[in-house]
Amino acid sequence: MALKGLDIFKLTPKTNCKDCGNPTCMAFAMKVAQGALDISKCPHMSDDALAALGDATAPPMKKFTVGTGDDKFTLGGETVLFRHEKTFVSTNLYAVTVCPHSFDKKIDGIRKVDYDRLGERMTTEFLYVLDHGDTAQFVETVKKAAAENRGIILAAQSADSAKAALAVAGDRVIIGGVTLANAAEFAPLAGADCTLLVGGANIEELYDAVAALEKLGVKNIIIDVTLGSVKETFAAAVQVRRAALKDNDRTFGYPSLVNLSEIADDARLQTALAAVFTEKYGSIIVVDSLNYAQALPLFGLRQNIYTDPQKPMKVEPGIYKINGADENALCVTTVDFALTYFVVSGELERSGVPLNLLISDAGGYSVLTAWAAGKLSSGSIAKFIKDFEIENKIKSRTLVIPGKVAVLKGELEEKLPGWKIIVAPNEAVELVKFFKELVA
Ligand code: SF4
Repeated sequence: MALKGLDIFKLTPKTNCKDCGNPTCMAFAMKVAQGALDISKCPHMSDDALAALGDATAPPMKKFTVGTGDDKFTLGGETVLFRHEKTFVSTNLYAVTVCPHSFDKKIDGIRKVDYDRLGERMTTEFLYVLDHGDTAQFVETVKKAAAENRGIILAAQSADSAKAALAVAGDRVIIGGVTLANAAEFAPLAGADCTLLVGGANIEELYDAVAALEKLGVKNIIIDVTLGSVKETFAAAVQVRRAALKDNDRTFGYPSLVNLSEIADDARLQTALAAVFTEKYGSIIVVDSLNYAQALPLFGLRQNIYTDPQKPMKVEPGIYKINGADENALCVTTVDFALTYFVVSGELERSGVPLNLLISDAGGYSVLTAWAAGKLSSGSIAKFIKDFEIENKIKSRTLVIPGKVAVLKGELEEKLPGWKIIVAPNEAVELVKFFKELVA
């Protein structure tokens, strides 16, 4: 049950020492109650108070990682049901099923989906390895999957086969095949921080299975909410998330997995359902295939949902060298809004013309919005050229500006003496032809 500010205040030292950065213990307590501060920010809390508050101030859904190092996957930690309330925390992940018979056939297609969108890598994160009952074959397939440098979900038929596969699976592994009936056999495999994927025939059984694993000391759990049909699975996904976030039921306070290969045969239906469960509430979504046609809309949707609406997606200001540009290459400038940057830089690359792309801080807005907000002006561009010492780094004195702010040309010519200012076309699709003709 979430605590109120006053309840937390009663457990603080009440000295108002300000060591936590707040003027009073009451102010600190109110922020902890809102989830804006962690209780550990007060260095003077007694052990008893920390123990009393620890659980109550923890997020309603557990957050943990699968694997270690830079490649680890983060799951859970959600605090809201709807993205318009607050940002979702952990991007959902996709898994593709493979088995001893299909691995070689499928893996080429899985490898082909690997691209950047707005600076983020888009690829299948997990291989969901099916166990057909032959442990040696299962282990062999897991070994091949581990060489693919992705996460692995072991859809094991028994704790023994999971144990054998675990030895070759690497550290980004989730152990599946766990149910209420076999929880005691699988629990020891979880060790200190390995993740178990638990399933059940209905929501009540899922609840009991999670409770049983918690009792056995398992810390990292994923709830497989896939039930008999699409309708039941959707209801379970919503019910589990609501119970955790609205009713503060910690037993359901774990990430969920939806296995579409079990409830839909058709690849197109699986893709459509993957979109539904990307929104509600599949932390991991398993499909039978994820080719480009399936991945493009899904990854685009995911990126739109799992970004912070309060933070513009930006790229760092600086000089981006396109097509091997050197100090003699023309300069072209646009804003730091990530979508604009990636669209423009893609077209510039396609032109084949070496160019120095100058990105100034425009608040993460698009060209016209930044101009209207005063974030993109002749002054801001001239200041960028001065601050980044462009004239020392680049010999070219030609600067191409976006067509939508052609109005800045005259002012820029005044502010940047010796520079030739050229106005680009309005639309990015026209840039290839424009630059080819410009240097012809
Ligand atoms: S550091 Fe602790 S004792 Fe000091 S003001 Fe903050 S909450 Fe109060």
